[in-house]
Amino acid sequence: CGIVGVTGTDNSLSILIEGLKRLEYRGYDSAGVYVNDQNGHDYLVKRPGRISNLEAALTDDVHGWAGIGHTRWATHGEPNEANAHPQYSQDDRFYLVHNGVIENYAQLKKEYLSGVHFTSQTDTEVVVQLVDKFVVDDQMTTEAALLKVLRLISADSSYAFVLMDREQPDTLYVAKNKSPLLVGLADGYNLVGSDAMSMIKQTNTFMEIEDHELVIVKPDHVTIKDFDGNEKERQSFTVDMDE
Ligand code: GLU
Repeated sequence: CGIVGVTGTDNSLSILIEGLKRLEYRGYDSAGVYVNDQNGHDYLVKRPGRISNLEAALTDDVHGWAGIGHTRWATHGEPNEANAHPQYSQDDRFYLVHNGVIENYAQLKKEYLSGVHFTSQTDTEVVVQLVDKFVVDDQMTTEAALLKVLRLISADSSYAFVLMDREQPDTLYVAKNKSPLLVGLADGYNLVGSDAMSMIKQTNTFMEIEDHELVIVKPDHVTIKDFDGNEKERQSFTVDMDE
């Protein structure tokens, strides 16, 4: 299973597909992408099976200036199109890719999300629906809502997350716990990926993400915060790698 994300280039879709292929060695049963062209158009395409199935489903109109991609190794819900990621909120505003397991998803669903229309069996969908609920019902900012959700997720859970908000399509909201994820800094745009190799065609400069941080990735800027919302400093590092 693997994750890639990119913001700030109209080449986003091909960067996502290329990155997912470089993560194939990790194993997966389905794949999907969400891209947003920052011009009022966005596209969600998911398929069970090989990445070539996903590629075959990408019509010529699918394009984006930012996006997220995912290969899934099913833990909750069978491998099918509905359970593939990105998962999304019932109002189609928020899109989330996730590797790992949210151990307390059933309890969170019961406590906060009665009456919400679910389209998948995944633990992941609970997270994206919760963010949406806190933003729409409680008028929180996306950042505050995600921080609240991250604090509600039980400590024994594992996750690498990238969240996109249709109303801020240049921003990737990123967090991890016990699952790998790092930021890649490219020329005029930025990336996230499960490993450095998934981004190596675009950059050899990376930024580590620690567990229990919220990382906000924009095309020209990366902000790192702790779960109380306090900003943290982070040095980037350069890796010499052969393709
Ligand atoms: N638990 C999530 C699911 O079953 C994510 C699985 C993964 O790590 O790909 O959809």
